[in-house]
Amino acid sequence: MRHEPAPPDRESSRPFDHQPRTRLVFGVNSIDRLGELAREFGKSILLVTDPGLVAAGHVEQAQRSLKSAGLRVTIFDKARENPTTKCVDACVAVAKAANIDTIIGLGGGSSMDTAKGCNFLLTNGGRMQDYCGVGKATKPMLPLIAIPTTAGTGSECQSAALIADERTHQKMACLDSKAAARIAILDPALTLSQPPRVTACTGIDAIAHAVETAVTKNRNPLSSMYSREAFKLCVTSFPEVLRNPNDLEARGRMLLGAALSGLAIENSMLGAAHAAANPLTAHYGIVHGQAVGMMLPAVVRFNGANKIARHAYAELASAPEIACVSEGHEPALEALIGRLEELLNLAKIPRSLADCGVERSAISKLAQEAARQWTAAFNPRSVSKDDFVKLYETAF
Ligand SMILES: [Zn+2]
Repeated sequence: MRHEPAPPDRESSRPFDHQPRTRLVFGVNSIDRLGELAREFGKSILLVTDPGLVAAGHVEQAQRSLKSAGLRVTIFDKARENPTTKCVDACVAVAKAANIDTIIGLGGGSSMDTAKGCNFLLTNGGRMQDYCGVGKATKPMLPLIAIPTTAGTGSECQSAALIADERTHQKMACLDSKAAARIAILDPALTLSQPPRVTACTGIDAIAHAVETAVTKNRNPLSSMYSREAFKLCVTSFPEVLRNPNDLEARGRMLLGAALSGLAIENSMLGAAHAAANPLTAHYGIVHGQAVGMMLPAVVRFNGANKIARHAYAELASAPEIACVSEGHEPALEALIGRLEELLNLAKIPRSLADCGVERSAISKLAQEAARQWTAAFNPRSVSKDDFVKLYETAF
């Protein structure tokens, strides 16, 4: 067996400042503890969710637990995919009228982002645009409990609210440590109600989070630990949840993997696949997880030309034993890309941008927007507009 030496490892000594902010409560039916947990914070609750979760019965289940703890509940059930500033404003109006002291986000990333966005405006005033960037809120926020019903965004473990501008549909990342959930309830039973396509797209997103965070310029020993564990959990359980959607144990591993990916993002940010995906969602309405998945193999190959990133990918691929670092970084990179492509096919994610209505003539404009995305700055290789043109062409 030949041994390929690891390149100089700056990651192992990179400084970081990590304060775990979110208490994680994991387990089947842990949502039944919601009342007991929320009672620690206040008496009047705003529950932010969407109509699908009302129909699935999850809102009623949450309400029952809150009411039996003697809490008053106001429901905002109009969160929608890729929530916009308008959606957040509507939520704030409901929260103000009800004079609430605690917020719960129940649902996918959209519900949790809307809840966080509402918390910014309710406590700090102004409009969402004022908080685009890092640490712009000056006043404390209300306690937030996040309850994901998809295994994907990891928003429950992040302090960022992703809200799109109502007019331009460009996503604004509003990061503030005060916006992080105090508690995340990770109940695998809630994820059984996901439609198959949601399971597929959010699962690919969670996997992409593990892959992107594993190589960013910001990564550190702690984020790498989260990335690797998240990747191991998701890569092994994703095919299982696609095959048997009622496999509660596999659902639990996916949910935990997605949350750990969220913790990795909190520490290391994301990369070029997310930067390339956002304009596809903004202009063509391509679902986030699908857009990220379509760009991911090309981005991994692009980054893999960098020796240090290639080694980090090899280590990532070794976590679920897709490859073995000691057998060389190049074969490990190829094995990783091969496995990602297999998973995309299993998830029935279209593999060509052309099949999703993207016009070749739009590539230049998309690339320009991708290069301006905040996450592009954290990619291990710097990515210019021309690089994004090539990445889109590869995925075309
Ligand atoms: Zn994502």
